[in-house]
Amino acid sequence: MVRLREQYKKLARPQTVVSLFVVAVMIGGWFWSPQIIRPSRAADVPIITPLAQHVQSVTFNVPVDCSKVPCLALTFDDGPSPAITPQVLDILDKHNVKVTFFLIGLHVADNPALVREIHVRGHEIGNHSWSHRKFSELSPNQIEKDIAKAQYAITSAGAPAPRLFRAPYGDVNAMVRSHVSMTVVSWNVDPEDWRDRKADKVVEHVLSTAKPGAIIDLHDIYQSTADALDPMLTELEKTYQLVTVSELLSLPSGQPGIFYGR
Ligand code: ZN
Repeated sequence: MVRLREQYKKLARPQTVVSLFVVAVMIGGWFWSPQIIRPSRAADVPIITPLAQHVQSVTFNVPVDCSKVPCLALTFDDGPSPAITPQVLDILDKHNVKVTFFLIGLHVADNPALVREIHVRGHEIGNHSWSHRKFSELSPNQIEKDIAKAQYAITSAGAPAPRLFRAPYGDVNAMVRSHVSMTVVSWNVDPEDWRDRKADKVVEHVLSTAKPGAIIDLHDIYQSTADALDPMLTELEKTYQLVTVSELLSLPSGQPGIFYGR
């Protein structure tokens, strides 16, 4: 008791009281000052980090509403091809057009840098199987393994996991559909650029059959297709907004079903 009373007396000394008052004023000032960022208010303050600065400097294209304007999606199958795909990418850049590439896993494994280049230049990447075999002739297990192998090759190369799948030769029956968990994308404009390999024929076919909502099937493995691209885009741009398949169809992630166009 005596010790407690002595300690109380010590606390009650004038200099101790003054010290406690000064400390209280300092804490109060810190708490109420609007200039000081306290932890409880930090969430209100914009945090500028190097990453945030980078994001702020990126310019985004305004999304196109394909229900209001005529859109077209160009698709390129069977690549990447070291001889042709770089030419196609340069022509697309010249026209500031983004497309969808359906890549074959075997070719992806041989050209991972080219896959990254396609992605970095802003194009969409879809899965076109690992081996490009006719899926209707495979077992369900073979189908699932083949798609998974291509998916792994594409992500291993550094591109995002595709959400879209295009069957080799467009060979899709009910069995194939029930064993493909991705959105299946076919086409409704086919210039058959693999047949005669003549650039002017490809341009003529595309321009005469193009329509709003079309998905056009091309292959970035033929020189004639690369040669057709510049004149084709020059004409198409006069009428259409050229978009990726996902933009054309406004596809949400994991959308089931098969699409031939809009
Ligand atoms: Zn193909």
